[in-house]
Amino acid sequence: MAFKVLVKSTLLLLALASVVSAKRTPGAIRYNNGTHDFKDTVIMISIDGFRYDYMERGLTPHLADMVKRGGVQAAYMTPSFPSVTFSNQYSLVTGLHPESHGIVNNQFYDPELGEFSHRDKAVHKNPKWWGGEPLWVTAHKQGLKSASVMWVGSEANVQGKNPDYLMPFKVVHPHEKVDQLMAWLDLPVEERPSLLLGYFSEVDDVSHRTGASGDKFNEALGITDKTMAYLQDQLTLRNLTDIVNVVYVSDHGMQSVPRERYIMFDEAYPNMDDFRVVGSDPVVTLYPHDYSKVPEIYEQLKEASQGQPWKAYLKEDLPQEFHYQNSDRIAPIICAPESGYTFCTTKKYPNSKIWSERGDVSGTHGYNNTDPMMRAIFIAHGPKFRSTTSALGAPTEYQDKNINTPRELHRPIKLVDVYNIVANALDLTPAPNNGTKFKTSKTDYIHDYIRGSIRGHFRKIHSLLF
Ligand SMILES: [Zn+2]
Repeated sequence: MAFKVLVKSTLLLLALASVVSAKRTPGAIRYNNGTHDFKDTVIMISIDGFRYDYMERGLTPHLADMVKRGGVQAAYMTPSFPSVTFSNQYSLVTGLHPESHGIVNNQFYDPELGEFSHRDKAVHKNPKWWGGEPLWVTAHKQGLKSASVMWVGSEANVQGKNPDYLMPFKVVHPHEKVDQLMAWLDLPVEERPSLLLGYFSEVDDVSHRTGASGDKFNEALGITDKTMAYLQDQLTLRNLTDIVNVVYVSDHGMQSVPRERYIMFDEAYPNMDDFRVVGSDPVVTLYPHDYSKVPEIYEQLKEASQGQPWKAYLKEDLPQEFHYQNSDRIAPIICAPESGYTFCTTKKYPNSKIWSERGDVSGTHGYNNTDPMMRAIFIAHGPKFRSTTSALGAPTEYQDKNINTPRELHRPIKLVDVYNIVANALDLTPAPNNGTKFKTSKTDYIHDYIRGSIRGHFRKIHSLLF
């Protein structure tokens, strides 16, 4: 009798599980703002170089308000190594570490394709450089439209697909970017993108020249915060604040570097003809002309770094947690300074145009991704990011030395988690990636509960039969 009851209830649970676990079709749910229908929508805004503790400075009241009004804020977000723009902007939309998506630095060398530089417009458009599946491809495959304002990689026709609507990289006023995003939101529902990406570089631009403090820097923070307030106002005007989800992220933090902490690489190692140097601020990556000389060059660099604030690494000796080995594009030798120091060359130093704009301190990033100064932000607001039910779980008290007042924040996340978070908010099935798989809805929890119950029932059946 007991066996029959168990079988019956197990069958019932199995049936229930199949109903509950049925995947929702992306874009199936409709909301209405009073005049128009809307599908699930996510606007993801990347504020380049916005370090996690900038939120503590009292200069970004509108971003802080997002959190107070029921949004979520992770204590911080750990970028991928190296903590540079192109690698991490592309990790945000693929959920992959740079070694997996192929954009292994702002500048690097590929044995077949040659040199990649973020300043070269041709590489922005050449799909051969860009691997993985960016969010706009995931959206397209599952029937959703997407749009991008200047997102890294969006011009590259990855897997034969650009975002449906695209503003390529150019210099425009930040409000113009918001106006473009809103113009896309104002399209008829069947033409309107469900995923909108926007890139803002003002904070990063200024802090490279000034470091992470000072009047000019504070002004840039204020301008960015006001731009985000403008975006929020535009959503309020359209009665969309409870319909459209807004995710604010950054790609890395920023470290201030005083003038005397510039290390002249050609003084430290004079045989510069031995290799191709690609990128020199703050980390130097070396591609020897003759790879059989790698051990010899490495030994010489190790010798030169004795007692100095930098270290030479062979690619294969980098710590596993960097996820920075499995690509031919990664240099076989990497020289990394301590945080707060940076490499330069005697040739570049006095003539640098950028340097002449700087005062005694400049700013840079690209260090070890676990350096607290490289931490990024994650803030989200909207129906899919209610404080108590979001993928980030419940907030808890958080404090570290850069945050003065302990306060309630959500747990830290990794930058490669963002792809899954946005995919889940749009009911998209994510492509394989390096991010954490979150439980994001009651469905997930119920599904887990049922799975647990089924396991419990099978254990009982097993004990009855054997
Ligand atoms: Zn950046």
